[in-house]
Amino acid sequence: LPRHRVAMIGSGAWACTAVKMIAENLAEEGRSDKFCRDVRMWVFEEEVEGRKLTELINERHENVKYMPGVQLGDNIIACADLAETVKDATILVFCSPHQFIHRIVKQLAGLVSKDAIAISLIKGMRVRPDGPQLISELIRKELGLDCSVLMGANIAGDIARDELSEATIADSVLANGQLLQEVFERPYFYTTLVPDVVGAEMCGTLKNIVALAAGFVEGLGFGPNTKAAIMRAGLNEMRRFAKALYPTVRDETFFESCGVADLIATCYGGRNRLVAKEFVAAVQGGKPESFAELEARLLGGQKLQGVLTSDEVQAILQRRGWERDYPLFTTVNRIVNEQLPPSSIVDYKAAAQVRV
Ligand code: NAD
Ligand code: 13P
Repeated sequence: LPRHRVAMIGSGAWACTAVKMIAENLAEEGRSDKFCRDVRMWVFEEEVEGRKLTELINERHENVKYMPGVQLGDNIIACADLAETVKDATILVFCSPHQFIHRIVKQLAGLVSKDAIAISLIKGMRVRPDGPQLISELIRKELGLDCSVLMGANIAGDIARDELSEATIADSVLANGQLLQEVFERPYFYTTLVPDVVGAEMCGTLKNIVALAAGFVEGLGFGPNTKAAIMRAGLNEMRRFAKALYPTVRDETFFESCGVADLIATCYGGRNRLVAKEFVAAVQGGKPESFAELEARLLGGQKLQGVLTSDEVQAILQRRGWERDYPLFTTVNRIVNEQLPPSSIVDYKAAAQVRV
């Protein structure tokens, strides 16, 4: 039987941690009958320390910009060329910030084998004139590939240090989900299969809005009761919104790692929460900074997903006349767009009813 070849599209913090786990698995004894040992990783080329990032990664087996101090494995090959990255690949792993994926997928058209399968680790969605489009749908439509998703409570830096974590792999074809488990599962990374791709992806996407709310609450100096109240309301809006858009979404999915567990991890330890907290500090300190400025100052090139997702979700709520039915999402959106002060988050039910 021909062996599977895995390719990673992306090289940020989570992409590096995920590719490290894949590389560890494929280098293990007994795997070579089924999988090629090497994994190509597509890197958005840039200069770091006066050198090309791809050269540095291939020399040091480390992404010094996005995951410094972590050995990725000598079987990772960084490529700046998309066509070369996916050549002969049978398993494509997509992990770039969601705002870049449409362009990447367009460039891949005609370059991937129709027999390949895909998995998306991307938390985010697109909004087009005719409605929302999940990233797994985009990949399926543009490339003709079955696309599973891996979502979960997965703060990249912690998993890179082999801290125990869990994730949800959602598949539409069970055999593909099982193959992907062989690629990702590690002794410190448990995976569970669920048959709800859309539900898992909606969880991963929408929790980034709630994480912004959690950051506002923290920045305002409120304690765990308030944060828990906001998280509960957020989870409720996540579930209602996901099911209103996609009636096939299953309630059970919200109890998996991709649901409530990811919400907890992100609201306590994620970048969206951190930047939202600093947004409040800047307002309170009398030197307001925009989210774009804070992202650039605090994240070292990493990208925030929650603000874009908030705008994307709000466009859907507006178009369907649903804004008042989702008061937490709506209030977060008005705060990030500076139409309401951050303190409105603890008055979100009333704040969302007011016309701005
Ligand atoms: P990141 O935010 O750490 O890094 C940003 C990446 O974007 C870099 O690789 C950079 O080279 C690339 N980039 C910058 N400009 C670009 C352009 N114009 N075109 C293409 N690429 C460009 O990335 P990440 O953490 O790997 O995030 C990828 C996805 O994974 C996101 O959807 C995120 O929500 C999700 N995710 C992240 C984490 C985490 O802890 N970081 C955990 C789970 C899921
Ligand atoms: P942030 O992008 O807010 O860091 O969230 C990371 C994440 O998705 C953890 O599961």
